[in-house]
Amino acid sequence: MPFGSLSKALKSREDRKSVSTTPPTVIGEMLTSRPSASALAIPLEEGTPLMVSKQESPDTTVGGELVALRDDNQVMVQSGAESRRPLEATRRGALDEFLVSLLECPVCFGYIMPPIMQCSCGHLICATCRQKVSLCPVCRVSMTNIRSLAMEKVASKLIFPCKHSHSGCLARLSYAEKRSHEEDCDCRPYFCPYPDDKCVWQGPLSAVYQHLVSTHENVITMEGNDIIFLATNVNLEGALDWTMVQSCHGRHFLLSLEKINLAEGCQQYFTACRMIGTMRDSADFVYNISLEANNRTLRWQSKPRSIRESFVSFTHADFLVLNKSTVELFSEDGNLALNVVIRKV
Ligand SMILES: [Zn+2]
Ligand SMILES: [Zn+2]
Ligand SMILES: [Zn+2]
Ligand SMILES: [Zn+2]
Repeated sequence: MPFGSLSKALKSREDRKSVSTTPPTVIGEMLTSRPSASALAIPLEEGTPLMVSKQESPDTTVGGELVALRDDNQVMVQSGAESRRPLEATRRGALDEFLVSLLECPVCFGYIMPPIMQCSCGHLICATCRQKVSLCPVCRVSMTNIRSLAMEKVASKLIFPCKHSHSGCLARLSYAEKRSHEEDCDCRPYFCPYPDDKCVWQGPLSAVYQHLVSTHENVITMEGNDIIFLATNVNLEGALDWTMVQSCHGRHFLLSLEKINLAEGCQQYFTACRMIGTMRDSADFVYNISLEANNRTLRWQSKPRSIRESFVSFTHADFLVLNKSTVELFSEDGNLALNVVIRKV
């Protein structure tokens, strides 16, 4: 990052910080002008804020109740423990906001999560950005590998906005929940799940199905929870894929058969059922694939993966892998019929 833009960015951080650090002056004033308890008695309706002119009464406690001074020279009186709670909540909220703002990385503006690194002057930086810099981006001293254990403890007690908040996510999460939520956040864009990784499309979950059927012409669709996915000409040479969308239970599932050449004459077929849904959604379903031909039966049962999980990591995970000779045993006239049944659990 050029230095000019960094210092500009830092300035905007300072501006933001100054907003969140505004001290609760109301409380300070209240304490310094505390009079004797017998100074005044104002009848109060329980829970009703009462406006009293400051000129008429300089007192800021009434019968031991909380009284707040306002900018317009008025005194706001509230009674009972109930009225104290919102004020305490506001103070706590402002403090949390201030602490969270201290954990903004000055380089990437993401939140600094443990392990929290600092320069010798105490400026914090996130662990990812720490790898990329040798000088502190704030004061330019050499970076050290000193951890800020105190701030790590503070971070463990705070809640942070999701990093997709700019895309509309309203979730606020603890440090421990943040990473797994962001991985499967509804506001995080989805990549095109078509098995060949040439398509660069990304968008919201609600647009994935439409993208698949309108852009990838060879994707066929079928309704029903019990269908036959027929892959034709499975013996053709080269790396090939067969893909279809099965719609049932009000959702869409992407079925793929991928033929991969591992070496000369050595081919494998990967069969996957993936859900066009979040990882949480996919946990509600189970699918079965059965192959039946030539007096042989082969059955496979598993849970569908979400299209959130990349196909590459998926090929290393648990799903049905067939070798060339198995496919030959189950195919008829070069076509392989996979009976796919999807159930809700
Ligand atoms: Zn960073
Ligand atoms: Zn520094
Ligand atoms: Zn989120
Ligand atoms: Zn695509």
